[in-house]
Amino acid sequence: MPTFRHLCAQYFDTGMAALLPSFCALCGKNENKLICLGCHQQFFTPSTARCIQCAIPLASHDRQRLCGECLNSPPYFDHTVTASNYAAPVDQLILALKFGHRLALAGLLSNMLRDAILQEPQQYLPDLLCPVPLGRQRLQERGFNQSLEIAKPLSVHLGVELHPQLVRRNRETAQQSSLHPDDRHKNVHNAFILNDTAINLIKGKHIGVVDDVMTTGTTLNEIASLLKRFGAAKVTNYVVARTPLH
Ligand SMILES: [Zn+2]
Ligand SMILES: [Zn+2]
Repeated sequence: MPTFRHLCAQYFDTGMAALLPSFCALCGKNENKLICLGCHQQFFTPSTARCIQCAIPLASHDRQRLCGECLNSPPYFDHTVTASNYAAPVDQLILALKFGHRLALAGLLSNMLRDAILQEPQQYLPDLLCPVPLGRQRLQERGFNQSLEIAKPLSVHLGVELHPQLVRRNRETAQQSSLHPDDRHKNVHNAFILNDTAINLIKGKHIGVVDDVMTTGTTLNEIASLLKRFGAAKVTNYVVARTPLH
């Protein structure tokens, strides 16, 4: 079986991904699809019961349930939709996008997210979309914001307007993943501001916030708190992958 690295090189270094998709990016099967049907079912079919608010997997199959954490201290966001758990091999696709600069993967991940959203009830569709912003320094280092790259095709497919600058970071923050969970809130607290024009846009609206990975949800909660403070009626997170544990 070809290795993931080999497949990345095969597809993305040659720039042929969009033109000649023939092997599955995860298992190498020749099915003329970027992700074969088998891998799609195994890794992206939302068969897992999840908390409707934070998308953590639940043991029960009752789709309307909330997890203990959301019951005890409800987050500011109302819903979270995810395409997959943040686990192998999906994590490799996200790492390749972020750190391997495989921008072609943004479209693929966006499609997975779109399919997950379209399986949810209509009320999960927002009035407008915005990405989780990167700080200026990280944006310069990486050259692109992976959340924005995922949000762009998502906006087109869902027919929902994208506002890339709706939320901005007003200071650099440490990578949440590098911090102890106790320090994560402090790290992102008041780290975001709304664009001047955003306040009129979000009043009474349902805002969709797009991110690649949701870990503890601290960053997304900070953004939801800001949006709600300025009048958003509802906030739904759309994340490609969700870490399966709190
Ligand atoms: Zn496959
Ligand atoms: Zn929850």
